[in-house]
Amino acid sequence: MPDRLVIVESPAKARTLAHILGRGYVVKASKGHVRDLPKDRMGVRIDNHFAPLYITLPEKRAVIKEVQGLARKAEAVYLATDPDREGEAIAWHLAQAARLDPQKVRRVAFHEITEQAVKEAFRHPRSIDMNLVEAQQARRILDRLVGYSLSPFLWAKVWRGSLSAGRVQSAALRLVVERERAIQAFVPQEYWTITAHLRRPPQGAVFPARLFGLVGEKERLPIPNEATVQDVLARLEGARWRVAQVRQREVRQKPPPPFITSTLQQEAWRKLRMSARQTMLIAQQLYEGIPLGDQGVVGLITYMRTDSPHVAETAQAEARDYIRARWGNDYIPPTPRVYTATTKGAQEAHEAIRPTSVKREPTQVKGFLTPEQLRLYDLIWKRFIASQMADAVLDTVEVEVHAQTTAGTAYLFRATGSTLKFPGFRTVYEEGKDEPEETAEGALPPLGEGDALECLRLEPAQHFTQPPPRYTEASLIRALEERGIGRPSTYAPIVSTIQERGYVRRENGRLVPTPLGFAVNDLLVHYFPNIVDYRFTAQMEEDLDAIAEGKRQRVEVLKAFYQPFAQDLERAKASAERVLIPSGETCEECGRPMVVRKGRYGVFLSCSGYPQCRNAKPYRVKTGAVCPQCGGDLVERKARTGKNTRPFYGCANYPTCNFTTNRRPLPQPCPSCGGLLVARRGKQAQCVSCQWKGVPPETSEEPTPEG
Ligand SMILES: [Zn+2]
Ligand SMILES: [Zn+2]
Ligand SMILES: [Zn+2]
Repeated sequence: MPDRLVIVESPAKARTLAHILGRGYVVKASKGHVRDLPKDRMGVRIDNHFAPLYITLPEKRAVIKEVQGLARKAEAVYLATDPDREGEAIAWHLAQAARLDPQKVRRVAFHEITEQAVKEAFRHPRSIDMNLVEAQQARRILDRLVGYSLSPFLWAKVWRGSLSAGRVQSAALRLVVERERAIQAFVPQEYWTITAHLRRPPQGAVFPARLFGLVGEKERLPIPNEATVQDVLARLEGARWRVAQVRQREVRQKPPPPFITSTLQQEAWRKLRMSARQTMLIAQQLYEGIPLGDQGVVGLITYMRTDSPHVAETAQAEARDYIRARWGNDYIPPTPRVYTATTKGAQEAHEAIRPTSVKREPTQVKGFLTPEQLRLYDLIWKRFIASQMADAVLDTVEVEVHAQTTAGTAYLFRATGSTLKFPGFRTVYEEGKDEPEETAEGALPPLGEGDALECLRLEPAQHFTQPPPRYTEASLIRALEERGIGRPSTYAPIVSTIQERGYVRRENGRLVPTPLGFAVNDLLVHYFPNIVDYRFTAQMEEDLDAIAEGKRQRVEVLKAFYQPFAQDLERAKASAERVLIPSGETCEECGRPMVVRKGRYGVFLSCSGYPQCRNAKPYRVKTGAVCPQCGGDLVERKARTGKNTRPFYGCANYPTCNFTTNRRPLPQPCPSCGGLLVARRGKQAQCVSCQWKGVPPETSEEPTPEG
């Protein structure tokens, strides 16, 4: 019997599938797309219904030829690429490029690479879903139209070369810029709090209660300055304190739902300080399969690009059995928890991100995983187990204390306490927070209404209102998700692209727009209001979803987008003036601000008074890579040895960080560990953290011609 040919996109996945399918199957990896739009031109026939011009990628010719040869002999060709639009498109392009016999082609899709799921999928093959392929093509063409039109515009008006403006990334950049402006415009307001340290005499435990206001008034008493504090403290002199009210409540806390892509990326940042990109890289390794000694190669988690929190019934039952066996009946809810999607979007991947079997505990697979893989697997495993566990139950107490002053007025103080009565899911998992919060956990001593209290100490404290916090990768992804911008496949590329382009940099893990980012954003906001409009961008995503569901046509969506966009572009080209990018430095010759310019020989600082003042000097060039020690930017510096200078690369945070390397750092992370890559000869690179060497993946899909 001739073999059956199976094609997937990655070698790791091919290895796992070969192990599962066994004899009779030949598994080949396409290593991503085999065809794409050309790099050296637009590749979209705008005047011919936006027809894409796909070319076979030169490095994929050998793979295609091999597939053709194997397909001829095979009795069937199974396209087993990932279960989403991108996977569907890879399968379709491959079938086209290799001119596979439609009679032989079968599409199989599974959300986890386990024996059961794979064999089930192979029992129910289908044909390629052209709606999904259409939606992927529409996104690709849309992004190409925008990228190819806006990039030269930005080169002309802002900066030569290496600038790009993607469709969705521009809306993300706007979020970061607007937040920064809100922070700059923020005026902190002074306010004070007064805390009473109280106890039941003579020897009760001391507890704090905070001043709210006057008894009987609904509004909090404002304490704007120290004078008011002194006034209140004077009035409270000699006051009689007593417990006015004790309210006890039982509060139940539900576990967070199992991970979807956006929540995994957020939580991996909060808890593990992994970037969205690194998280996806490692999640993919776990999904595609890890050799587990005697157990063979096993896909440890379900597909990592999903916006559905749904859990398969078998997985749910397995989790309940596990929880019951390990912690007892009290720890499972009476009925299994069912999660349904709250985010918009086409549900192509129908499952949450979870372990393929909860029986593979993190401690058991530890020996087979890298430290990063283990940390991420542990997070996914715990989150999933918790999502099927019982509520946590807290006893909370809210106490109102009255302080009756000698003058006859009464002040209201409040104290709260809570104790964990039953831990439930919190035994294994607690969700991380973006910003530190004041938590009121901790018990209050037993108090009864009418109890007299003594006040040991009144403690005033000065505070200032805080500006909104800068985004982290995690909170930016949440902001994108809340606005319906981006999809599981795009969050990580969006947040990494705005950093690689030099529009946004990371400072202590926070996203800060660069002067270049401000300049590009302001130009786009002025001339391309749609491109940077949150609602418009969200609507585009919904249109793409509609194509995937077969409810709209690709050409119609593209046409509706392109006509107004082309008008904006014409207007912008005609009327936009050149943008000067402030450097923050002033000219020592004439006192005008210095601006950053890019000339034929690179980036330099130039006086904004040019040509009247011709002062110019060199500028530190960013590499786009981040320091492995502190996360700062790596910049090119010049070392002097005698008369000669040679470039080396150091951390911009010098002298607080002293990382340096003689090899040029690359913006893309190590494909093995996510660490820093540095250039070797030709296209080769090596990792400074692990032993990885090779040709790194490309940074971005859009080409960036110079000048
Ligand atoms: Zn000057
Ligand atoms: Zn550093
Ligand atoms: Zn590495």
